[in-house]
Amino acid sequence: MHIVVLPLPLQGHVNICLAIAKMLVSQGCSFTFVLTQDLAGNVAQHQGIHFATVASHGSCFADSFDHSSCLSIMKSIRPGFEELLQKLLLSSEAGVSCIMADSYVTWSREVAAQFGVPRYVLYVSNAHTLAIALHVPSLVSQGLVHGGDPGILIDCIPGVLPLRARDLPQSVRLMPEFNKEMVKDMHKAAGAIFNTVEGWESNPLKTIKETLPVYPVGPSLLAPGFVESPSKEKPGVWAEDRSCLAWLDTLPPSSVLYVSFGSLATMSIDQMRELAEGLEASGQPFLWVVRSNIANSSVDDVLPQDFGERTRDRGLIIRWAPQLEVLAHAAVGGFLTHCGWNSIVENLCKACVPMLCWPHLGEQRLNARLLVDEWKAGIELVQDDDGWVKKEAVAKAVKELMRGEVGECLRDNALRLKETACLAWQEGGSSCRYLQSLIQDIKNLST
Ligand code: UDP
Repeated sequence: MHIVVLPLPLQGHVNICLAIAKMLVSQGCSFTFVLTQDLAGNVAQHQGIHFATVASHGSCFADSFDHSSCLSIMKSIRPGFEELLQKLLLSSEAGVSCIMADSYVTWSREVAAQFGVPRYVLYVSNAHTLAIALHVPSLVSQGLVHGGDPGILIDCIPGVLPLRARDLPQSVRLMPEFNKEMVKDMHKAAGAIFNTVEGWESNPLKTIKETLPVYPVGPSLLAPGFVESPSKEKPGVWAEDRSCLAWLDTLPPSSVLYVSFGSLATMSIDQMRELAEGLEASGQPFLWVVRSNIANSSVDDVLPQDFGERTRDRGLIIRWAPQLEVLAHAAVGGFLTHCGWNSIVENLCKACVPMLCWPHLGEQRLNARLLVDEWKAGIELVQDDDGWVKKEAVAKAVKELMRGEVGECLRDNALRLKETACLAWQEGGSSCRYLQSLIQDIKNLST
């Protein structure tokens, strides 16, 4: 079986699509993995995976990034992709069994239909996001999105926990046309693949199954035989600062708060300063990732004067962390996170530390609700109506997370989620079964 994978050319997306491809290689599939030129030299070679490069106008890895520019870059690769697919269909001995396209590459639906190739949709986020996206027409007809009251409670989405309108993914609230394209003719897709676990999201998965087959084959990090790419071969623009690992070695177990907002979230300089003062006031050791583009200013301009001096004995600021290794370090005891799906899954697989949620964009508010309301593995930072987080709120929440009984309870719940994920990859477990049925279903398509 020969499968063509088309990820959105962003770090989180490429990593997950690659991890899923590696899982299927170990089951006897071969892959053509499509990358834009900017990423081509950046990804580790892997047996069974051939990397093909297509031209694009611009790079999603540029230091300043926004979603719409990434989508227009994605559009620009369509002609190159069509040419590649045509070539593969004509020349490859194995033919092309199917395409696995990132859910953000909405035009893959048309291309698959045009070339008569089955299409699987790869979700690098969770199943809740798709269950909501499929229900959008009904939400729109009830006036619950686009201009409605952001505080209104929405508890009518099958399989999805009750949410405020403001907690819906941004693609639903702000990009209605994009959302429409994303779920158009979804029932015609061969299936949806998720880096999630059935036991984590059984309700939305049940709902989605009414439209198309689902394959929750995650978490890839715990899949048998999963080998993490060496850091120098991971796609990314920022070099990992590994000095933080030696620094963590000097600190007591479970004492450090790891603070990271992923690769895309931004923050005003004032908010960064307020956060810094909150971290200082908490008295807790912290490792804080401040990307060079988080506030579009240098770290020295962003932080309060003498902040580095004052927190020298218990705080470390770096540009980019080897996150998996940081989370696996015994000194880390809590995670202040923007609630990106990869960060959540990585914590549940590696550390299981309680999470302090500060969602920013995308589907992060939804993820925070899942963590706080349903899984009870995190607490949320209190934000004002305009999204401002006060230093007092930071200091209070950090103490609660790292020192209080609440933190212990959150940790127990996170551990239970990890157990569910580990069981899913044992013989007969849900992720094993879904992986086998995915392979069988692809075989059936080809015969
Ligand atoms: N990450 C990292 N170093 C950092 C911060 C983040 O390697 O200092 C990685 C993290 O391990 C995860 C990805 O960047 O795989 C972020 O993905 P996520 O879905 O959490 O958030 P996004 O960047 O898409 O908002």
